[in-house]
Amino acid sequence: MTGKRRSKKPWRKADSGVFWGLLTDLVQIRALAAAHDAENVAFRRHLSVHHPPPHLLHDIGARVQREINCTACANCCRQTRVEVRPEEVEDIASHLQSRLPDVLHEYIEDDPAEHKLLLRHAAGECVFLDENLCMIYEARPRPCREFPHLTLDHESLGSRLSSVCRNAWLCPIVFNTLEQFKHELGFPRSH
Ligand code: SF4
Ligand code: SF4
Repeated sequence: MTGKRRSKKPWRKADSGVFWGLLTDLVQIRALAAAHDAENVAFRRHLSVHHPPPHLLHDIGARVQREINCTACANCCRQTRVEVRPEEVEDIASHLQSRLPDVLHEYIEDDPAEHKLLLRHAAGECVFLDENLCMIYEARPRPCREFPHLTLDHESLGSRLSSVCRNAWLCPIVFNTLEQFKHELGFPRSH
């Protein structure tokens, strides 16, 4: 998720080995991800019988991640709700040098249906987002550290692909990784 790293590097086919044109426009990505819905279902079915080289998705994700500037995006901090564990709320309080009850009151809300704590949203974005930068970057909760889950070694390809297809519409890293993955495996494209 969004952070302090800034990358101004243009998309370079020769260096990255990526042939799918990199897209970062969120409106375009949302529309294309919706248009590719049926194709992605067929792709997942295809992968259940044709096994890709191990680590290919991981490697493409790492390549794409290096080329995307999260501080120009921050869409995950607007479109997703982040679960936070009680010990992470304590970390946030200590990072902000605030009292735990104050942090709970100002920044955290209950999700009674799921028995979880969530980071509060205000004006359509995470309460800790400040002009595309995370105000608690060093103390951000685990889901923020791990999003978009492409380079986690402990996840199987099946579970990673399920979250990849679910998040393609909202995250340029995920969208471009998925498109490049299909491209490198020679999967026939609808458009
Ligand atoms: S949505 Fe994806 S590209 Fe955008 S800030 Fe989050 S992780 Fe980075
Ligand atoms: S804490 Fe909020 S602003 Fe920071 S990375 Fe997580 S969702 Fe984004």
